[in-house]
Amino acid sequence: MSADSRMPGPEGAGTAPREAFLPFTRPTIDEETIQGVAEVLRSGWLASGPNVRKFEDALSEYFGGRPVRTQTSATASLEHALLAAGIGAGDEVITPAMSFVATANVIVRVGARPVFVDVGLDDRNIDLDQLEAAITPRTRAIMPVHFAGLAVDMDRLYAIAGRYRLRVIEDAAQAIGSAWRGRRIGSFGDLVCFSFHPNKNLTTIEGGCVVGGSPEEVSQLELHRFHGQRKVAADEVDTLFAGGKANLSDVAARVGLGQLASLERFNARRRELAARYFALWGNDAPVRLPVRGDESHNWHMFAPLLPLERLRISRLQFIERMAERGIGVGVHYAAAIHLFTAYRAIGYREGQFPNAERIGRETVTLPLFPAMELSDVDRVVEAASDILRRAAT
Ligand SMILES: *Cc1c(COP(=O)(O)O)cnc(C)c1O
Repeated sequence: MSADSRMPGPEGAGTAPREAFLPFTRPTIDEETIQGVAEVLRSGWLASGPNVRKFEDALSEYFGGRPVRTQTSATASLEHALLAAGIGAGDEVITPAMSFVATANVIVRVGARPVFVDVGLDDRNIDLDQLEAAITPRTRAIMPVHFAGLAVDMDRLYAIAGRYRLRVIEDAAQAIGSAWRGRRIGSFGDLVCFSFHPNKNLTTIEGGCVVGGSPEEVSQLELHRFHGQRKVAADEVDTLFAGGKANLSDVAARVGLGQLASLERFNARRRELAARYFALWGNDAPVRLPVRGDESHNWHMFAPLLPLERLRISRLQFIERMAERGIGVGVHYAAAIHLFTAYRAIGYREGQFPNAERIGRETVTLPLFPAMELSDVDRVVEAASDILRRAAT
């Protein structure tokens, strides 16, 4: 997310040339896709058109034939999914306290109340042991997040949702390609939302989609993304409600088609790189490693926790020392959502969700993206281990 961690490292005057700066993430766009985008630009059809249709069809096939509607961001996808499910004023939606803030913002934006639940310290996903205690007569939906692409326990989650007749709007922004017990995230479940932001495993530059929904809900998604407007005859439209504007462009969709063709290869590479981190750090890592998941994990991010209570440096100092060695480090995310001003304003306070708060303090995102070499992981592990050894109390 933070653009500053992609800036080139400092170049010491008169010193030997540094290795190229390694960002924590970087999208891979192949030449064929760039050529395809040029063709779209020359075609004269730039807004939603044949490429959006093709991209939605290709995604639908990827998700086992389910309906797919694209939007200009996952934030829009999540908001529209809530609206299509009829969630609004007076409703409560249960969601984890640690995620990107959009997860909770969309709940507020449709007029509902986000009810936070703490996350696991190592899997970063909503703690299902604590979920039921958060259900009230006003609860209408659960919005889980597959954090870093690690699938939430879908059997347990959907069993709870079924028992209380709750909708599930999955924030699968980070989870494209991951699976739960062999079933791809998005190929089952209620309403499942993905992000195509440049930092995600598949990008359309900006973009997102909703997978699933009844025919009526799919029609609502179409209305929400385009002014609430529907064609009633070749020369006539009606506006059913004051809808928004979040339709994907054909240019973006063409990028997505090129990305989708490479997705399995990208994710396989991410798994190799993650495996390298685990192999090098093994059981006595100087950081607290994340849960490894199964062979389907898409490794959207590799985000260990720093043992700050045993260090003489802050997280910021760690990040600065890594940058001095030419390595970008991200933070996802720097605070639990309930600690933000907007959420304190609706009654949340520090101490309520200790794991989410601790992750916010200690988490760092180390480089992991498909164009990386295994030797880049070696370089990161060496630098981080050395910095942490020198800073140990
Ligand atoms: C990226 C992300 C979003 C928002 O996605 P956009 O496409 O940028 O709107 C929402 N939730 C999570 C968990 C994300 O990682």
